This record gives sequence, structure tokens and C-alpha cells, in this order.
Amino acid sequence: MRTVYVDNNATTAVAPEVLDAMVPFLKEHYGNPSSMHLFAVEPQEAVARAREQVAHLLGADPSEIVFTSCGSESDNAAIRSALETQPFKRHIVTTKVEHAAVLGLCKQLQLNGCQVTFLSVDGEGRLDLKELEEAITDQTAIVSIMYANNETGIVNPIEEIGRIVKSKGVLFHSDAVQAVGKLPIDLAESTIDVLSMSGHKLHAPKGIGALYIRRGTRWSPFLVGGHQEHGRRGGTENVPYIVALGRACELAEQHLGADAPRERKMRDRLEKELLTRIPDSRVNGGWAERLPNTLSICFEFVEGEAILLLLSQSGIAASSGSACTSGSLEPSHVLRAMGVPFTYAHGSVRFSFSRYNQDDDVDYITDTLVPIIKRLREISPFKRQVNTSAARAK
Ligand code: PLP
Repeated sequence: MRTVYVDNNATTAVAPEVLDAMVPFLKEHYGNPSSMHLFAVEPQEAVARAREQVAHLLGADPSEIVFTSCGSESDNAAIRSALETQPFKRHIVTTKVEHAAVLGLCKQLQLNGCQVTFLSVDGEGRLDLKELEEAITDQTAIVSIMYANNETGIVNPIEEIGRIVKSKGVLFHSDAVQAVGKLPIDLAESTIDVLSMSGHKLHAPKGIGALYIRRGTRWSPFLVGGHQEHGRRGGTENVPYIVALGRACELAEQHLGADAPRERKMRDRLEKELLTRIPDSRVNGGWAERLPNTLSICFEFVEGEAILLLLSQSGIAASSGSACTSGSLEPSHVLRAMGVPFTYAHGSVRFSFSRYNQDDDVDYITDTLVPIIKRLREISPFKRQVNTSAARAK
């Protein structure tokens, strides 16, 4: 069976070049970089090289990069450090559409006495910058706003946001897990103080991430341990994975100029084909600036999970914007925050491309999906329900 992987915002394939780079550090160069003998030399040098590669992609200084275990750790560390280093400030500003790594932590912190403002978004997923400005008080320890949304691909005007945050003298963190490697980022010219990224979104393995911490930012480690990462993150360095992340960043930098337009072209063609061939379909954030690889699209009167299942039977891997919790299919918090109508939000599917997709993947997806939606609509309980209640209301 032909397989088409278009779930690259969930995770990506490890690039062969990345695998080649990391394997020697699982085999012969297994030393601990902190050791005082010859086995430490290669790993030490490799970690330093990877730090340079990550920094280069981000336009940062290598001393501003700290390796972590994942994007979630980076997010948690950034927010917790802001609270630790400013014990008299107990307010956080974030948005309703963040990833669970930020939202979940903020909700937990709320239970522990922190005040959190969750900024709303409009129908196109855009923030109201006036609302942001008004939300920041002298109690605000950190503003945490994602660079790009994982579900819709909507890109925030991060520098405009940063200028507002910095004009209030507040620490600015951005979860850039979905943006790094997909958009050019230059932190030397940025208002961002702390930035999170994750390896498995850019063809490195799962289980490695990084933080950018602007020089001069006060920092309290999330993982307390040895002196690794200059005391900013305890724990023996995961050398093979750090090497992998470095190589993946180097590749991302080399490929960005070609990958982004190529993926945008495939995404745009898929979007156009689906909107044309499937009635009652709509793109989420279609008018907003979006990541070039991401299409979030809703089909009225069908369930996203049913679509995914049938796509998967045809070898297509995508994802939906619903969370199946205890038997009830709830539309995602992102689509709810955007006010996507209920009958559409249930039928949302996300397609996310990578450099390994081919142009004819678009044809295969379209030709497979059109009959799937038709079939599902014929048996849709939603349609019957909505039609019946509409009929009753008349
Ligand atoms: N932030 C965003 C925007 C994400 O999309 C993800 C992963 O999907 C994360 C954070 C968490 O990253 P990780 O899976 O490396 O913990």
C-alpha cells in the first residue's frame, strides 16, 4: 500500500544525515563530556559544535543555547524560571491557543495561586494586541505567546507582540517549537528573551529540545543537578541526541530557502483542490499568515476521527483537531477559541508537509479524501441531528 505521511507537525522522520551524525556517539564516542579523560574529548567537542549549529540557525550566540529533553521541558523551564527569579510577581499572560505544555502548566500554576490571563483570538486565530497591552501589569512575571500554532499553523506577529511586552519591561517567552526550521528566525534582532524549540519537529529524534536564553536573562534551573549547561539545566548531556539536533538545525538552515516554498506550493494546491471538490469545507485561519507546511481544514457534518481512520486505511497519516475524551468528541481548544462553528469544528483535519513529501502526494490525498467525505456525509448522525433540530425550529 502506498503511504503518505502528512503529519509532520506531530513529528518528523529522522533525516538520514542526522542518523549518520549521531550513531558514532552511541557506539564508540560514548564518554561523558564532563569526564577528565580522553573519552570525554569527542563528546565535549561534539556538544560544542551542536550548540554552534543550533545558535546559528536561530541567530543566537552559542552561550545562549541550553539543551533540554523536549519542547515541553523548554516551555515548563521558561515559565517556572520567570516565577522563581521574580518571587513577588505572580501573574502570567498567555493565550487560549497555546500547546498543552504551556496551557497545562499555566492551569496548574493557577491552582497554586498564580493569576493567569488567557488572551482570546478572533475567527482567524489572531490576537488583539490592545488586549495584550492592557493585560500586562506590574505583577506580570512573564508573557508566553507561541510563535506559530501547531494545529492551524497561524503565525503570530511575534516582534510586534515583543515590542509591547518589552515596553512594559516584562520577560517575553515564545514557544517556537513549530516555527524553528520552518520560518527564518533571527534572535539577534528580536525582542524574544526566551525561546523553546524541539528536535523531533525538524528531523531530529524525539527526546531532545533546546532553550534560547538571551544573555543577561536571570535564570533558575528547572532540573537541578550537576553543573551541566553552565548550571542552567542539570543532567548528563544526551550527547547523541544533542549531536542529532545540531545536525538537524544545520540541515534546516541549508534547506529552508527551498523547502518552505516547495511545501507552501503543495499545501496551497491541496487546499485549493479540497475547497473546490468538497462542498461545505473551510480552512482554519485561511486569511492569516500561516506556516508554509500546514493546512487545517474542516468538513461540515463529519467527524475528524472517522476521516483519519479511513485516510489511514488508505495509507495516509494526518491528524485531527479533536480530542477524544471519555467517549465524547470535543473539538480542539484552538478551534473553540477561534469560534469555528460546531458542525465544522468536529470535522477538522490537519495536513502538515515536510521536505520528504512529493508533489503527487497531493493528488493521492485529494483523490482519496473526496469519496471519504461523501461516504461519511451520507451516514452522518450530525447531519441528521442538525437537520432535524433545524426542521423543528421552523
Ligand atoms: N509546543 C508546540 C507548539 C508543539 O507543537 C509541541 C509538540 O507538538 C510542543 C510544544 C511539545 O514539544 P515536545 O513534543 O518536544 O515536548
